[in-house]
Amino acid sequence: MSFQLKKVLIEKKDRKKIYEEMDDIFESGMLTLGKYTKRFEEKLSENLLGQDVITTNGGTSALEIAALALELEGHEVIVQSNTFVATPVSFIRAGAHVTFADCDKKYGALTVDEVKRLHTKKTKAVVMVHIGGIISPEVIKIQKYCKNNDLIFIEDAAHALGSKFESSPAGTFGDIATFSFYPTKIITSGEGGAITTKNKELSEKFKILRDQGKKDFNSNIHTQFGSNWRLSEVHAIIGYHQLNKLDQFIKSRKKVAEIYKNNLLNLGLEVILPERGISNWYKIIAKIDSKLNKEVIKKALINNGVKCEGEVYLLPCHKQPIFLPNNVSLPTTEEYTSSHICLGISSNMTEENAIEQSKLIKEVMKGILT
Ligand SMILES: *Cc1c(COP(=O)(O)O)cnc(C)c1O
Repeated sequence: MSFQLKKVLIEKKDRKKIYEEMDDIFESGMLTLGKYTKRFEEKLSENLLGQDVITTNGGTSALEIAALALELEGHEVIVQSNTFVATPVSFIRAGAHVTFADCDKKYGALTVDEVKRLHTKKTKAVVMVHIGGIISPEVIKIQKYCKNNDLIFIEDAAHALGSKFESSPAGTFGDIATFSFYPTKIITSGEGGAITTKNKELSEKFKILRDQGKKDFNSNIHTQFGSNWRLSEVHAIIGYHQLNKLDQFIKSRKKVAEIYKNNLLNLGLEVILPERGISNWYKIIAKIDSKLNKEVIKKALINNGVKCEGEVYLLPCHKQPIFLPNNVSLPTTEEYTSSHICLGISSNMTEENAIEQSKLIKEVMKGILT
């Protein structure tokens, strides 16, 4: 059986439960901020050591809430350039000045040395992204540095629901964390996201901002400048049933990752593994030997029928047209971009699919190496 990249897996028996619950909300007429959103938030909270979870209608919305809640006008925020454009843009929209940071060679994530290099009197927050679902050990150092220097540490954990560093889940290191349930992510609610924190004062503020700055759902008293960042009940139902599958998805993805790793030794491609933790295997990132050319490899793989996803980010943020005028140069980020590719993965991929893909890759790489 062939597999499809980025295929959303919603099994038949789960669809039945989803349809039944949709019928329930159609009967009740309660289509937003009802019991299914609450249930999804509680289940997410269980996965995140009990911290407060506020669902949103996207990962971007979660970032926008974080940015607004922190009152960043006139302040600087350090953001790794190796991320999706929504990460910096959300902070810029809230009036912050974003300073792009370089990344480490192996995981493509922020480092504490970069935070120190870019830290000024105006810095208020630091944003780290767990690229491809792997949490870099730097997370602990950055957390500590932020704490000691009164900086707010934010994890953009859009890639990393279910990943861990040592025994702590992604989203529990920062003062604030954000998640996305967009269809290409590890689990999906169609559109959706969440913002989480241990800080009760902040979580109360997030809840108010999500719903037009209203003091509470049934009042029409607006105490903050919010927006409509609510998740609908339909999406909360889908998200909940997907969340129940998270462990199963990670288990099957881990098998695929191991097959790739074991079959692709000494071929100029090294599958990156987490250190002292577990990846949710949102992406399977392979580092390309420095003597080889990424573009040549990518083309050869695709031409030979390999389902290769390309790079995590083909262009880091500082190289995107909207940020080119800033004229920033980040050598390690640029090197990271040009020296990795993502191997094909989806939650419904079988071990046979992974073996077949590995064989194809092996042939291509042998051809390139000889
Ligand atoms: C997907 C993603 C987002 C945005 O999430 P949406 O749900 O698409 O709004 C933000 N940051 C990162 C790192 C992402 O991968």
